[in-house]
Amino acid sequence: MIGQISVPENADVTLLKGLLKESENRFNLLADASPIMIWMTDEHNQCYYFNKSWTDFTGRNVAAEAGTAWLQGVHPDDLKLFNTLEPILDRKEKYTFEYRLLRHDGQYRFIHEIGNPRFLPDGTFAGYIGSCIDVTEARATEVILANQAKELMRSNEELEQFAYVASHDLQEPLRMILSYVQLIQKNIDQGDTKRVNEFIAYVIEGTGRMQALINDLLQFSRVTRKGNPFAQVDLNEVLKIAVTHLTARIQENNAQVNISPMPVIMGDSFQLIRLFQNLIDNAIKFKTISTNPIIDINVKEKEDEYEFSVRDNGIGIEDKFYNRIFVIFQRLHNRKDYEGTGIGLAICKKIVERHGGEIWVESEKDKGSTFYFTIKK
Ligand code: ADP
Repeated sequence: MIGQISVPENADVTLLKGLLKESENRFNLLADASPIMIWMTDEHNQCYYFNKSWTDFTGRNVAAEAGTAWLQGVHPDDLKLFNTLEPILDRKEKYTFEYRLLRHDGQYRFIHEIGNPRFLPDGTFAGYIGSCIDVTEARATEVILANQAKELMRSNEELEQFAYVASHDLQEPLRMILSYVQLIQKNIDQGDTKRVNEFIAYVIEGTGRMQALINDLLQFSRVTRKGNPFAQVDLNEVLKIAVTHLTARIQENNAQVNISPMPVIMGDSFQLIRLFQNLIDNAIKFKTISTNPIIDINVKEKEDEYEFSVRDNGIGIEDKFYNRIFVIFQRLHNRKDYEGTGIGLAICKKIVERHGGEIWVESEKDKGSTFYFTIKK
């Protein structure tokens, strides 16, 4: 029997050759009808067979792919992966493998390959037969799902922060309001209204603070809910506007803002103005008593992102607070020393994350801080 072909007992060599030819034809027909890419190597691992799906995919004929020539279509960064395959081939074992291969239209596609060793009836190694499928779409779906899972985790953390803020930070002015209202009531009951106006002023201050906190919370939640669609943004223009918004602050503090030439990126210009404005504003606000603020804004181009930096010569931040300052309403100073609610950097973080980047700080106490953030190209 050869496949499903019956071989008569007294078959001669000519008949056997004919049957083998027919078996080979059937293999070729089957392999060429398959949507899966199929190839074969000889015992020296030189490719000599590629089915129609393969040559359709690469756009090159079998002669052009033969031997190791097909490796020219492998993405240069993935070629080194083939070194890890060598010991497996030496042991003549089955393997699965992934790499990027150039398609006829010039696009690199992710290929999932399975290689099976072939042996002759006497056990001699005859080479490999392999199948390849294009898994680019499946990989893209995996990436989308992984990003969605990451985004879900992030928004969950944010929700927890919201709950924390509602229970702690908003309680503080509320407690103050309640205690002064009770005091006013007690004074009125006792017919002593001398200090009532003073207590009412505290109540107004408390409600004002609550209002500011609620407004900040709203602004914070709007970063993702109400963001504009991304468009081309010239960051030179963005910085010009951010600096214009801060003109009074810059002049009052004799601040100097040095800006390097900036790139054009894809983003939400309104939010990018806000991002730079918050960072420059902080750089001026947290200045030392003895020096005028000097702020340097730079950019470094990396492979697939830009890294921006906003450096100041201010009071600096201790490294144990590097993460805390990006959480909503977390401040390192009280309101009397430096005004603010502690929302600025939380908003910056959210804006940067919406642009697919990260934000962090490096600083030395009393020497100054540098805020870094990245934005995908
Ligand atoms: P706010 O400015 O309202 O306090 P932020 O979220 O902008 O809120 O900042 C949080 C805290 O991080 C600040 O209270 C301050 O302690 C610290 N901080 C931010 N920027 C700087 C800076 N450039 N230099 C020193 N400390 C800073």
